Amino acid sequence: MSDFYEILGIDKNATKEEIKSAFRKKARQYHPDVNKAPDAEEKFKELGRAYETLMDDNKRATYDRYGEDGLKNAGFNTSGPFDAGFGDLNEIFESFFGGFGGFGFSQRNANPNAPQDGADLRLNLEISFEEAVFGVKKEVKITHLETCDECGGTGAQKGSKPETCPTCGGTGQVQQVAQTPLGSFRQITTCPTCNGKGQINKNPCPKCKGDGRIETERTLNINIPAGVDNGSRIGLSNEGNCGKNGGKPGDLIVVLYVKEHKEFKRDGVDIYSAVEVTFPQAALGAVVEVNTLDGKKELTIPSGVEQDKILQLKGAGVPYLGNNQRRGNHNFVVKIKTPQNLSAEEKQLYSKLNEINCNKKPSSKFIDKMKNVLHN
Ligand SMILES: [Zn+2]
Ligand SMILES: [Zn+2]
Repeated sequence: MSDFYEILGIDKNATKEEIKSAFRKKARQYHPDVNKAPDAEEKFKELGRAYETLMDDNKRATYDRYGEDGLKNAGFNTSGPFDAGFGDLNEIFESFFGGFGGFGFSQRNANPNAPQDGADLRLNLEISFEEAVFGVKKEVKITHLETCDECGGTGAQKGSKPETCPTCGGTGQVQQVAQTPLGSFRQITTCPTCNGKGQINKNPCPKCKGDGRIETERTLNINIPAGVDNGSRIGLSNEGNCGKNGGKPGDLIVVLYVKEHKEFKRDGVDIYSAVEVTFPQAALGAVVEVNTLDGKKELTIPSGVEQDKILQLKGAGVPYLGNNQRRGNHNFVVKIKTPQNLSAEEKQLYSKLNEINCNKKPSSKFIDKMKNVLHN
């Protein structure tokens, strides 16, 4: 277990200014671009961890009392941003030493002649509710980069070849020494002769203008399986942009947008819709016709059903993606329709019903009132 104060060479009461300045000094000493010792990178990361912890009052207090294990137990991410990769670490380092081009970390693997994989492409595709449920074959047009068939991807005219850049020797980078207030640093910048390409193409291919790739429109048939949902993704291997220098092509990612249905709502493999029933149907029970994904079906309304009760048709929902034999359910939410604009006959019947429900003879006052209602 390492001591953060020791790593930075400061005492326990160091102020933030002292921590910062100690970090600067040590980071310069152990920066892997400057220090070629095999453990320099590890030491540099340790410095970052120490710095990040001690600059945060909460973390520092926890660390002072319980050490690095205490930080972990308290739920602090002790690796900080420093395990995320060298890029992040460099960013922090550059925030100190920024303004003079950094140390070329980001260009570390930027050999322009190394194989570069092609980019993945994204296609947003809108499909209907039913198409998502039951699957569909779709024909789409896409535009992606393909290796130029004229030059075979070299970018040079037939019979010629790009030459290695004499300034950088093909690396695409040149080194300069930068003088800064903190001393002199080796600085790596993009080669000005070839703009980082590492090659000079005196006779560019007329078809691709030297890029080696051309935009090509393709028609693709996409098989959308039953059971996909809004936001589902379908990957089509190698239909993204082509690679460079022998790199692999990218993929085409089709992102599905499912249109809403005017009657049905979907929740995973289950379908929800409302079923309207009348007072008598709710009271007596009934068999009603309902719309399902498979067309009209009969739904049994049990007698005495209540508002918002869910009645289920099992297996009438959405097929499971990848297992279409299995399907979800269709859930019908009961909505009881209060009768309006009653006919005279209906009014009489409801009155009679009311009379029975009240289980007593209506008062003469009530009868007068009802008469009044009926005559208006
Ligand atoms: Zn070409
Ligand atoms: Zn060059």
